[in-house]
Amino acid sequence: MRLARKGSPIDAQHDLIVIGGGPGGYAAALYAAGIGLDAALVEKATIGGACLHVGCIPAKELLETAHVYRTVRNAGAFGVNAGAPELAWDVTMKRKQTVIDQLVAGLGSLMKHRKVTVYNGVGSLGADRVVSVARDGETRTLRAPSVILATGSLPRTIPGFEVDGKVVMTSDELLSIESLPQSAAVIGGGAIGCEFASMMADLGVEVTVIEALDQVLTGCDSDAAKVVARSFRKRGITVHTSAPVHGHSVDPSGSHTTVSFGDGATVDVALVVVSVGRRPNAGGLGLSGTAVVVDERGFVEVDGRCRTAEPGVWAVGDLIDTPQLAHVAFAEGMLAVTDSLGEEPAPLDHHRTPWCIYCHPEVAFAGHTEQSAIEAGYEVVTSSHRFISNGRAKIVGDTDGIVKVVAERRPDGTGGQILGVHMVGPWVTEQLGQAYLAVNWEATVDDVAAFIQPHPTMSELFGESVLSLTGRSLHG
Ligand SMILES: Cc1cc2nc3c(=O)[nH]c(=O)nc-3n(C[C@H](O)[C@H](O)[C@H](O)COP(=O)(O)OP(=O)(O)OC[C@H]3O[C@@H](n4cnc5c(N)ncnc54)[C@H](O)[C@@H]3O)c2cc1C
Repeated sequence: MRLARKGSPIDAQHDLIVIGGGPGGYAAALYAAGIGLDAALVEKATIGGACLHVGCIPAKELLETAHVYRTVRNAGAFGVNAGAPELAWDVTMKRKQTVIDQLVAGLGSLMKHRKVTVYNGVGSLGADRVVSVARDGETRTLRAPSVILATGSLPRTIPGFEVDGKVVMTSDELLSIESLPQSAAVIGGGAIGCEFASMMADLGVEVTVIEALDQVLTGCDSDAAKVVARSFRKRGITVHTSAPVHGHSVDPSGSHTTVSFGDGATVDVALVVVSVGRRPNAGGLGLSGTAVVVDERGFVEVDGRCRTAEPGVWAVGDLIDTPQLAHVAFAEGMLAVTDSLGEEPAPLDHHRTPWCIYCHPEVAFAGHTEQSAIEAGYEVVTSSHRFISNGRAKIVGDTDGIVKVVAERRPDGTGGQILGVHMVGPWVTEQLGQAYLAVNWEATVDDVAAFIQPHPTMSELFGESVLSLTGRSLHG
């Protein structure tokens, strides 16, 4: 930090100022500081953003509780008689908070270690890359040659489902719920909705998923989405697709509500979880006197290198119209810093982003679905293999799922370049790595089939699926 000259309206100068301390913002600040830049970060709450406080980390923490519960419930099958599991939700919540607190503390130490100046307050941007930081009625004024906007997103709601924190919640409230309800309707069968449905169902909640589109997990390959829907139904989760919600009416006791959806259907539940995506949070950014454009949906407009229309100003993460994922925000934060140095980095290819969804069964994919590859003009060939035939999956007792590889079709009917890989099943979020590299390195089926997969591992299924696209196969 360099203090401004006496009499200047600017309080401090930095090389880079980031507004918003979520994954996009803190990644940009840390990366810049690691390169040797004097970086500042403005955060109005606590660093970590949605991801650490009300997103990825608490959601996965609660899913892990569900996993442990499921494991104990099924332990008898392994000859381990642990009795029926009992849930101590207060302990679950404390553990969740401990994990968050440890990660936030670690992030704070990293900021200090890299000498990032953190300003607590609400940041806004004016002309000439002047950033104002308002806190407790006082305003500090900062300036830098480069400014990155990273104010993230907030849960979307739907008219007729006002969030009261009791009968109607979004992810923000659900992740801190004091006790689990007996029954819940999850509106929206996307990634977050499916994770919540899966977590609650494992822990004994009677769950109904209501999705307006014709499949859950839109954007996933339809074969993969079908496996998830089938598996959910097998576990007692009711899944309705092509079923837009119309409204709900709370009963006089206030403890239940009836949700109406589809063609006159209803369901009576103790809790409604509205899980219909997130909206960009550009509202408090000011921006007057700048050329930054906010589109009609609230996203800040950027080019492939996250540059806004205002020279020296970038925007990253959930604030822009790219996949709303923490790892995308990290990558965009680093890209913006690299671009600010004039290094002309290659834009990110969002069609090949890795996606991981942590419901049970897990989902992980990268690249084209079969459908999107065909729509893009490819002639394709696919190969799917099921976890039911995988040794490791049988050993752990978790065999629901498939691996599907989509490849460009060669004239002889074998596979050429690998265009997409779609996995549903045990631990697939940890298995996506090699598939992601194969897709992004534009590897061919022959390139990948030549590699050895360790045995016995779940990853053998990916090897097997690729191998069979060469026209030869081992197990099937
Ligand atoms: C339930 C749930 C589960 C999720 N699970 C995953 C997952 O498993 N994997 C994954 O990749 N993604 C997941 N996500 C998405 C992920 O959390 C977001 O993509 C990510 O947090 C976006 O990062 P960001 O930095 O753009 O914004 P945010 O995380 O929203 O951070 C923005 C920050 O800016 C601050 N801020 C806002 N306005 C101002 C201002 N004017 N001045 C100063 N500070 C301001 C906010 O307080 C906040 O700290 C999940 C999201 C949810 C809700």
